[in-house]
Amino acid sequence: MQQIDPFEVALEQLDRAASHMDLSEEALEFLRRPMRILEVSVYVKMDDGSVKVFPGYRVQYNWALGPTKGGIRFHPDETLSTVKALAAWMTWKTAVMNLPYGGGKGGVVVNPKELSDRELEALSRSYIRSIYDVISPYSDIPAPDVYTNPKIMAWMMDEYEWISRRRDPSFGIITGKPLSIGGSLGRIDATSRGALYTVREAAKILDMDLKGASMAVQGYGNAGYYMAKLGVELFGLKVVAVSDSKGGIYNPEGLDPDEVLKWKIETGSVKDFNGATNISNDELLALDVDILAPAAIENVITKDNADNVKARLIAEVANGPVTPEADDILFEKDIFQIPDFLCNAGGVTVSYFEWVQNLNGFYWTEDEVYRRLDEKMTYSFHKVYNTAKEKKIHMRNAAYVVALSRIYMAMKDRGWISK
Ligand code: GLU
Repeated sequence: MQQIDPFEVALEQLDRAASHMDLSEEALEFLRRPMRILEVSVYVKMDDGSVKVFPGYRVQYNWALGPTKGGIRFHPDETLSTVKALAAWMTWKTAVMNLPYGGGKGGVVVNPKELSDRELEALSRSYIRSIYDVISPYSDIPAPDVYTNPKIMAWMMDEYEWISRRRDPSFGIITGKPLSIGGSLGRIDATSRGALYTVREAAKILDMDLKGASMAVQGYGNAGYYMAKLGVELFGLKVVAVSDSKGGIYNPEGLDPDEVLKWKIETGSVKDFNGATNISNDELLALDVDILAPAAIENVITKDNADNVKARLIAEVANGPVTPEADDILFEKDIFQIPDFLCNAGGVTVSYFEWVQNLNGFYWTEDEVYRRLDEKMTYSFHKVYNTAKEKKIHMRNAAYVVALSRIYMAMKDRGWISK
């Protein structure tokens, strides 16, 4: 299988969407490039006394709409191209949600599963020391992403605070923190909760009864697990299959998401779960289900397997799970897609709520978070859907049109471009 370059995918999507709207050449040229890239060496003293150096990045893609916002990923396959693509997608994501942010992303090339807890803390603190000069609560605000979590955000926030010698409003330097130090209620499952709100809206359009509807979830990290758990709790979905990087499991009668999580924590994988059949990730993607939720990483539905997809609805919980060639195939097959940077925007939306609470020093109830999240997801979903209907274009292109129009206007008003 040929390697797919994520940033090439992001640019191809941008070009496709631009052809459906009035975007000047100047604007398109501007948007095809990240505004700033920082490359750093992250030094860690390992438990055995040796020192290891891990390549790290922070990309601030575009800040026309406000401070750049986006997560930090620790992953062995991370590349600058991946970080650039993810930073571009963050830019469209905050714009489609009408949040007062630009987009950015960070990454360290490392397998965190091979590090001890102490080494992971040293890595997290070292990364912040390395990127300190380009971040602040008012310029660039990181958050969690694949293989990073509230515990890591806490170390990062603490390191930032020690360096800056300031306490308030340093909580606002990073989002996705633990509740004890400025985290927001509802942030931990926000990506999946938001995605499920968009699934609910799509189901109305498709006339799909969610109660008992079958769902397959690819990936069982934070997003995948909560997609399954809340899917059952909120709408009575039947989760028939889930997977992780090591393989998947299938039970047409439905799986208990918490039991599966317990098993994964115990054994390191969902595989071999009692009462389910082992299946491969490719088999999972080809299951005859109502809803397919890719919730892991980019480029999982490609031109090689898109034709096998049988789901009626794809909820793109991951960033960049579907390539442009695969989009064409799915569109032909009349499969309804909720594009990634709309579907998974619940995470950054509650990050925004967290930041607002930090800057105000005034904290909201869980219900208030859920209500505002629902309002924003539902509004943006229909804004995109109506654009798709009006212009007779793919949901992905419509999401781009909504996002790019806002960024374009801001760039013009700032005088960054002349037309
Ligand atoms: N990493 C998440 C995303 O891709 C969240 C970003 C954030 O909360 O800033 O949307």
